[in-house]
Amino acid sequence: MNPVESKLTPGLYLIATPIGAARDITLRALDILAAADVLAAEDTRSLRKLMDIHGVALGERLLISYHDHNAIKVRPRLIAALEAGKSVVYASEAGTPMISDPGYDLARATVAAGHMLISAPGPSAAVTALTLSGLPAERFFFAGFLPNSSTKRKSAIRELAKVPGTLILYESPRRTAAMLKDAAEVLGGDRPAALCRELTKKFEEVLRGTLAELAEQAAERTLKGEIVVLVGQGDSGNVREIDIDRALQTALEGHSVRDAADMVAAELGLKRRPVYQRALELAKGAE
Ligand code: SAM
Repeated sequence: MNPVESKLTPGLYLIATPIGAARDITLRALDILAAADVLAAEDTRSLRKLMDIHGVALGERLLISYHDHNAIKVRPRLIAALEAGKSVVYASEAGTPMISDPGYDLARATVAAGHMLISAPGPSAAVTALTLSGLPAERFFFAGFLPNSSTKRKSAIRELAKVPGTLILYESPRRTAAMLKDAAEVLGGDRPAALCRELTKKFEEVLRGTLAELAEQAAERTLKGEIVVLVGQGDSGNVREIDIDRALQTALEGHSVRDAADMVAAELGLKRRPVYQRALELAKGAE
């Protein structure tokens, strides 16, 4: 064992666990699991299994279940362990705690009570999918799970339409086809996208194409397993709208709304009607 971790400084240790391949656990996470005084996990059975695979004995130590449904009751117990000068490790069922998983309130309570908060980074499906998607990774926005109902989902997608980067979404396999269909409708079918399934597992699969193509493929088959959907920024959207607004604002300085719209539509090769509508809005806003 790494001697640095052989006696842990008291505090809460958030450890990332594999999202499929058990050997994706980090050496540091194993050190922390071996040395922590108290262990807490979203799913105690999964953590026990992971520890067994890697030969980390639980011994006489406490392994406490901590998840969304018992967090209010269990959190004070974990904070009390920190008060008593113990090291506490927390793992979610898979991946990184807090990323569409519990852990946020526990981390916040730890900091509020003046204890050390330590993160042992590792796997997360969001970043793994981003690196496989073929979509730009300079800027990305993780939006987690969208609402289940189509109406709410569409309005959530509308809010994301102008994000200047790659969107990363988690989705259940049962809803993926419907979600892709809604995304294609709201964002436009020509946006580049990727569907990443069962990452780091036996049936890992990455589909790349436009939103319309992926929506069609998803509708034609029964998707199984765990899924991340990514949507690229596309040619239309934020950059273009900003360009249109800038051009209109300049044109409106010396021309009527009608003329400004004509000029900008011609200059940018766009349909006149939406440009005219936008020019009207900008002109009204400036009044
Ligand atoms: N905390 C985890 C993380 O860091 O990725 C995410 C937990 S969230 C409850 C579970 C969702 O993550 C799944 O529904 C799926 O969208 C995504 N996910 C987790 N493991 C995955 C995998 N191996 N392949 C694809 N998506 C995965």
